[in-house]
Amino acid sequence: MYRGRFAPTPSGDLHLGSLVTALASFLDARAADGQWLLRIEDVDIHRCRPEFESNIKHELERHGLHWDGPVARQSDRQELYWQALDQLNLSGCVYVCHCSKATLARKGCLKNSEGEFVYPGFCRSLPATNEPLEASKSLSSVRFRVSEQETCFADRRQGPQCSFVSREAGDFVVRRADGCFAYHLAVVVDDHLQGVTHVVRGSDILPLTARHLLLQQALGYEMPAYLHVPVVLSPDGSKLSKRDSSTALKVTSANENLQRALSHLGIVLPDELTGSSVEEIVANAVLYWKAVSNHGF
Ligand code: GLU
Repeated sequence: MYRGRFAPTPSGDLHLGSLVTALASFLDARAADGQWLLRIEDVDIHRCRPEFESNIKHELERHGLHWDGPVARQSDRQELYWQALDQLNLSGCVYVCHCSKATLARKGCLKNSEGEFVYPGFCRSLPATNEPLEASKSLSSVRFRVSEQETCFADRRQGPQCSFVSREAGDFVVRRADGCFAYHLAVVVDDHLQGVTHVVRGSDILPLTARHLLLQQALGYEMPAYLHVPVVLSPDGSKLSKRDSSTALKVTSANENLQRALSHLGIVLPDELTGSSVEEIVANAVLYWKAVSNHGF
């Protein structure tokens, strides 16, 4: 059974970029007669606000994107992330790291294209303490031990993808020094425990997916199928900011928003649908997606 999901971070209102991702994952799930879950990724409590979560849910409903089952919220799932982290710790896949960003900058560490320091493993061989990881909560992060091997997977739309996480990120953080679990660990645990079979999300996350594969392997999870759709850029070609007014959703015209999102995905619906209800537009887009996905992704 196909199970997909939309997993927004409630750090801003739903904008055209996130509507595109929501729509793509919804169409993919419905075209496969599958389920579509909504998961609120508020694992970083410092960036997330309840009013953004309300806005996201309201906007999804207003655009005819109705999810199945109860909404999951990462802030309610900390215990599950602890269990996964303990499992990784027991198998020697993670270690406590005392390096702050300031230390890494002082030691001349280089940054990757995401603006993160590539971690050279300073704390990798410090003797492990017997303390449970929970005891080292404050001021230390927990990093995942990355091997030198290349990691490869096939994206349903973009084809084979290979990268060396050891060169692009090094041992990456799975629990931050401020006490939040990192997105990478939370997303992998959630997709697994929620039985997600297909992940459809923005191509901005494509370079991070190899890290998810490494965590899945270490935790003994199956890999879902991945499809990364092109992200909406600001008019100047830069990454979209949540405050960019040109991509804010129109308050009055949900069907116009949907048509903009669809055209970004390469779907132009017949003229006679202009002015139809959101339900009709979405139903037609599902049929279109079904036809196209039979021939490619
Ligand atoms: N929470 C991420 C975001 O809002 C999406 C993560 C995912 O789909 O895996 O960009």
